[in-house]
Amino acid sequence: MSEDFYDVLGVSRDASEQEIKNAYRKKAAQYHPDVSDEDDAEEKFKKVQKAKEVLTDDEKRQMYDQMGHDRFQQAQKHGATGGGRGQGNPFGGGGNPFGGGMGGGGFEDLFNNLFNGGAGGQQRNRPRQGRDVSQHIYIDLEEAYHGVERDVKIRRREECPECDGRGYPEDADVNTCSDCDGTGTQTSVQQTPFGRIQQQTSCRTCGGEGETYSESCSECGGSGRVRRTREVTITIPEGFRDGQRLRYRGEGEPGENGGPNGDLFVEVSVREHEDFEREGDDLFYTHPISFPQAVFGAEISVPTLDGEKELEIPAGTQSGSTFKLSGAGMPHLNRRGNGNLHVEVHVVTPEDMNKEQREALKKFAEAGGEEIKESLFQKLKNSL
Ligand SMILES: [Zn+2]
Ligand SMILES: [Zn+2]
Repeated sequence: MSEDFYDVLGVSRDASEQEIKNAYRKKAAQYHPDVSDEDDAEEKFKKVQKAKEVLTDDEKRQMYDQMGHDRFQQAQKHGATGGGRGQGNPFGGGGNPFGGGMGGGGFEDLFNNLFNGGAGGQQRNRPRQGRDVSQHIYIDLEEAYHGVERDVKIRRREECPECDGRGYPEDADVNTCSDCDGTGTQTSVQQTPFGRIQQQTSCRTCGGEGETYSESCSECGGSGRVRRTREVTITIPEGFRDGQRLRYRGEGEPGENGGPNGDLFVEVSVREHEDFEREGDDLFYTHPISFPQAVFGAEISVPTLDGEKELEIPAGTQSGSTFKLSGAGMPHLNRRGNGNLHVEVHVVTPEDMNKEQREALKKFAEAGGEEIKESLFQKLKNSL
């Protein structure tokens, strides 16, 4: 199998993305290690995957076409082993300019380095927002109805209290870094597929700070950050729905270089209730009624999440009819009022009647011109 990605997939160099994807599907099915019994199926499968990955990404494909197979592969290796990962990237917030990670990640490294040019050293010290922290909690439907406060344990990195985040004790000697003369950057020349590129990277000795210290903080080992478990009180408002998230600004990890703290996100799952089903802010409930209640009408007492409520069942109600208790559903989130409670009534057929009840019901049937023929077994059972 040729190494060239186009050959690997068996497509022409001007193949459309769709053609490439179709070819990939065929080849992948052919070489899938679970299917193929060729010895090197797995290796071929990987090549096919790699080829598809590169050729279906516009930017990568363009690079591949320009550089050719060998130089493209070298560029990837080069980036992966080059070390000194470019800290910032020009596209902001940790985003990756090519979308979708690529195998070893070497390619992006190379590109970040190229695009960052000489800025590497300074970018390292730019303010960065701290990482977000997330937590997941479960509450009951009753708690979602009334609103609830929860103490939640979160684990996050915090500024080291021992050194106030500096990373070294107050009485440590501070010296100008001798490796970078205090600039925080080092210049290196890299041989890349585009030619020689002079590059500035963060000084590895001082981490870009331009200073070194005679000793590190014993508490945080010089990082200026320590992991702590904290209890945070979370307030879940009335009417919160399953899967919604609460955001607590600044309750995440501390920012770097004066950047803001990250946020705390709390995802809330609302457990299902035994009796009520929830749809938005409406609740659904099923209530049994007797045949006479259905016939004559009745006032029944139904449970709600705010205590029992009376419900008027009119005479002649059919089994399966639904009645609405306005305002007895879930509270609306962030606005006044509640959803409704829908009560579906089910007429229950009596199973164990006494003799008197049976006689009365037979009379009822006969009065309506209905002839009741009990099975022999039932007659026997009833006579016991
Ligand atoms: Zn410390
Ligand atoms: Zn230095």
